[in-house]
Amino acid sequence: MLSGRDELGHRSETVRRANLSAIVRELHESGPMSRSDLVTRTGLTRSAIRGLIGELVAGDLASESPAALDGTPGRPSPVVRPDPNGAIVLAFEIAVDSLAAAAVGLGGRPLEHLRIDLPRGRSSVDDITSALAELAATIRARLPSTATLVGAGTAVVGVIRRRDGMVSMAPNLGWRDEPLGDRLTTALDLPVPIAFANESDLAALAEHRRGAARGIDDVLLVWGSVGVGGGLIVDGAPLTGSAGYSGEVGHIPVNPDGLPCRCGSTGCWETEVGSSALLRRAGRPPEGGHEAVDAVLAAAGAGDPIALAAFAETGRWLGIGLAGAINVLNPDLVLLGGRLAPSYPFVRLTLEAELDRRVLRASRRLVRVVPTSLGEDAPLLGAAELAFEPLLADPAAWLRPRHTLAALASA
Ligand SMILES: [Zn+2]
Repeated sequence: MLSGRDELGHRSETVRRANLSAIVRELHESGPMSRSDLVTRTGLTRSAIRGLIGELVAGDLASESPAALDGTPGRPSPVVRPDPNGAIVLAFEIAVDSLAAAAVGLGGRPLEHLRIDLPRGRSSVDDITSALAELAATIRARLPSTATLVGAGTAVVGVIRRRDGMVSMAPNLGWRDEPLGDRLTTALDLPVPIAFANESDLAALAEHRRGAARGIDDVLLVWGSVGVGGGLIVDGAPLTGSAGYSGEVGHIPVNPDGLPCRCGSTGCWETEVGSSALLRRAGRPPEGGHEAVDAVLAAAGAGDPIALAAFAETGRWLGIGLAGAINVLNPDLVLLGGRLAPSYPFVRLTLEAELDRRVLRASRRLVRVVPTSLGEDAPLLGAAELAFEPLLADPAAWLRPRHTLAALASA
């Protein structure tokens, strides 16, 4: 049993760690701010903030500079900045037809970024992990030698178990029950663990933290390309489900008489709103990729009636599926991402009309549907946010080993 004094020490250490976490999270999510703003936002005292920032500056997680005199009364408050090189994560994305890698510094800014095309169709896990390892090596070679790697995250276009990166199903890649996590960990050989999640879940995380859903706590993101995925923010936190498989809105059954789906079922939502359905309605080969969808977008932009009708019908099915999801989830915001984002102006009218017809009045009044704002990199940026999470939750755990190393060096 802890003595009263031990217990007090234990409690004050817990409080210190929680306060460091609150400060680093503010700096990471909101960017540079004055010490007085940090006092306001965290509710900590000035002297507590001063001491904790001192620890973060000594641990290279933050830097401080004098504030410019701006004519307001009182002493100017120093500006605290997250130090992007003091904590860097590597982010990876395995998308439908491309692979991406980035180095992202504390504060969320990408420092390096690469994306390469991936031929559509079947790609082996080994092909993809070795391509990602090459991208990672290129990016690491470009980083300053002082950069400190604190984590890695990977977004995958498929149904993936977060715990170990086991891919249950990724039809775009031709994968079923593939141990991506094991293979990528071996191929990258990083000094930090790699986190894994589905690309739509991570797009939702990034849009919530830095994009169109910032400050909004109940969000459904629908990410459309060949397949259709979903990501959920509930009460301000990502909803993952038991293993990370939640949000597969693309496989909500909407049409019992519809087409076979790549999941093995029939008439799933993605068979009506995925890019194959759009291309089929536009009279084009349904297996076309992003370029084919972009061609229909361009045609619709030029007023082509067949392209416009294809989008209108896709919008109707979007509205039918969304109506069900909105009635279940009561979100404030629905984000359309992937190829659905540029499609938004052309699907909006029929989509909204279905929502008017099918969503319960109370939920209908609250919900807005808008395109995402971070573009195609949203899943990659979300993978970086996922990789930062252990640092944000307990920065003290990262400060202590550094102090130990500094002590060893000076001994
Ligand atoms: Zn399906």
